[in-house]
Amino acid sequence: MAKAAKASVKPSAAERCEPGKFRIIVDVGHTSEALGATSARNDPEFGFNLHLAKLVGERLKASGFAATRVLVTDGKAKASLLKRVATANGARADLFLSIHHDSVPDQLLEQWEFDGAKSWFSDRFSGHSLFVSERNPHFAASLSFARLLGKELKAGGLHYASQYTLPLMGRYRHQLLDKDVGVYRYDSLVVLSRTNSAAVLLEAGSIINRDEEMAMNSPERQELIAGAVSTAMRTYCEKR
Ligand SMILES: [Zn+2]
Repeated sequence: MAKAAKASVKPSAAERCEPGKFRIIVDVGHTSEALGATSARNDPEFGFNLHLAKLVGERLKASGFAATRVLVTDGKAKASLLKRVATANGARADLFLSIHHDSVPDQLLEQWEFDGAKSWFSDRFSGHSLFVSERNPHFAASLSFARLLGKELKAGGLHYASQYTLPLMGRYRHQLLDKDVGVYRYDSLVVLSRTNSAAVLLEAGSIINRDEEMAMNSPERQELIAGAVSTAMRTYCEKR
């Protein structure tokens, strides 16, 4: 019986991963109402996320992932998380990638003046990081894509943020699942644990770090990251 059932089940286009039919959601972290972190130069994280996510979406489409959708959500922070999940699940997404930019816990912030305004920064940490949830129904696939993306970012000369294992991170402390490319475990994160598809969150870089904020604003860095996502997606797809 098992044999007959197996023979009659053809993997779907998405399971085989035909790029043109593979439904990727590129989720823009935060909303125009709840802007996320504030950069060292007082720019909101949401703007960084929106810009990079759009570029990632363009690069994915250009490399054959025509069913890619960039997801912009509105509303208050917490409600927007459930909206994202509902949209991704309703669209029967195959892979959910949330784009964010990083900051540090408040106690690490130092004061400086930028553009005549009292501003906050921390140059202590830098780098990108990747998060996956063990509660996601496709944890193994999520981890696999996160690793591939981490590998591409590393190949592009970037380093990951290593501070998440440190006690000073408090409630933001996370287990490092891949110490070579910087994949952390974040089980309770709503957009990772409640999505029905594989899901990964990318903190693309730190905007509270004064040098890295400049880098994150540069087209070179943005292209590097968007290219890394599309190359990783290609490899992920070929492996299925
Ligand atoms: Zn964020």
